Amino acid sequence: MISLAEPDLDDAELNAVKDVLQSGWLSQGQKVGQFEKDFAELIGAKHGIACSSGTSALHLSLKAIGVGPGDRVVMPSLTFVAGANCTALLGAEPVFVDVESLHTPTVNPKEIERAISKYSPKAVIAMHYGGWAAEMSQISDVCSRSDVTLVEDACHAPGVSYQGRPLGTFGAVGCFSFFSNKNIVTGEGGCIVTNDTNLAEKLRHLRSHGIAKNTWSREGHLHQYDVEQCGFNYRLDEIRAAMGSVQLKKLAANQLKRMELVKTYKERLDSHLEIPFKNNDESAFHLFVVLLPKGIKRSRIQQLLTENDIQHSAHYPPSHLLTAHRDFESLDLSITEEFSERCLTLPLHPRLSLSDVEKVCDVLLAGIQH
Ligand SMILES: *Cc1c(COP(=O)(O)O)cnc(C)c1O
Repeated sequence: MISLAEPDLDDAELNAVKDVLQSGWLSQGQKVGQFEKDFAELIGAKHGIACSSGTSALHLSLKAIGVGPGDRVVMPSLTFVAGANCTALLGAEPVFVDVESLHTPTVNPKEIERAISKYSPKAVIAMHYGGWAAEMSQISDVCSRSDVTLVEDACHAPGVSYQGRPLGTFGAVGCFSFFSNKNIVTGEGGCIVTNDTNLAEKLRHLRSHGIAKNTWSREGHLHQYDVEQCGFNYRLDEIRAAMGSVQLKKLAANQLKRMELVKTYKERLDSHLEIPFKNNDESAFHLFVVLLPKGIKRSRIQQLLTENDIQHSAHYPPSHLLTAHRDFESLDLSITEEFSERCLTLPLHPRLSLSDVEKVCDVLLAGIQH
């Protein structure tokens, strides 16, 4: 079986986890503190706030910047549904906007601007599709001119820069995920980065029930506390943080590995298929996505891949067509709709071999030439 995504784990993670289990201290402590520091440093941000998932990072961020009932949040429809779900769960409404083009499927800054003047949103979520940066200079300009808070969903793009500045540091907050198929893996896990010290403090309080002042004893009991604003329990644990610290050390080498695999994919497929971000190598290479030629039935190709033991996916079903979100406002989404009908996600992960890539290409090309 050639899997779509596979974590790169070995004895280093195993030993790190073993150390934690032997220490007897499992919930948020020193390992989490160290991981937050290391992650923030990697991204080039002042503060890291580790969370239980990328989704909890987004939920916490939207809550901390004050998104609530009656507010609107502008976001691409072509992304994972977590941002839209968290917005709706806070009693606010997503406003979905289109991507730039089939070749650059990141959120279109001009559409963001149109949505801002039409809907006066509280916040904008930008997302770096597949590991390639959205047009952050235009997007941050538009947001700061209109006094709208910018949130970066950087779950696909840890360790990538845009015009020399790291992704995750353009917004008031940058949210990352360490889910098992991401570039950094802790099983479940996430992190928020920010340069705003007040916001970091607020995020920390809301991550832990809204408890501001506390006195934890060594046994982890809380003797005294106050809550000003209701919060969540979105903490990361020591087990995952220890894994995360090991994973951070592997990120750069794995990114190169991903880039090499993508290069081989492009050499084989370029003359037959449209490949988004074809000439842009500044990426975390989280996903490798191609567009099938018009008129080719994707389900037939998907079946062929499955018959050949090759996993595949299609990123993403547009959020505005999902039952829970289809009644919300949106601008024209025709590029998103065409993209999501024609896209096909192929296997990409650091353990994939070049011969796996060759096999995937053989099967795919046979399918479209059939
Ligand atoms: C994975 C992902 C999330 C959610 O992260 P979880 O850790 O799975 O909760 C949010 N947004 C994007 C773009 C993602 O890829």
